[in-house]
Amino acid sequence: MSSKLINWDEQPLGQVPDRVLAEELGVNKNMVFRARKRRDIKPCGFHSKVHKRVDFDWGEQPLGELPDEALGRKLGVSGNAVKYQRIKRGIPVYQKTEYCPVCGEAVLVFDTRRKVGIPLRILRAVALIDHVREAHQSVMETIEE
Ligand SMILES: [Zn+2]
Repeated sequence: MSSKLINWDEQPLGQVPDRVLAEELGVNKNMVFRARKRRDIKPCGFHSKVHKRVDFDWGEQPLGELPDEALGRKLGVSGNAVKYQRIKRGIPVYQKTEYCPVCGEAVLVFDTRRKVGIPLRILRAVALIDHVREAHQSVMETIEE
């Protein structure tokens, strides 16, 4: 599929283990490591031996940049706790953006639909098909013939 451009400044570098972030982004762990090092960000858990319980600066967390549940897991809190903090700040729910291969327009994939247990890759595909159906009927007709 399309090559993935990662805006590392928007990733929770050092807030989660490099390995976990790498899995989340579907990249090699070394990529995360290098991106973190370049920004001189300490690895996740650097202070965890000193302070057992971390009081988050919620303003520093990537609220809405990943699913509430996923962020909660990383921070060791419930998804609802994350949701509460996100809504309090007026940050919209996480949504993935997919780009239409026909017109290049951004197609939003809403994460709320994942609650039914549908994998994100399927939701992306469905969102794209929905968009193509609506915006590019002629293309769709060609495919369906
Ligand atoms: Zn399109």
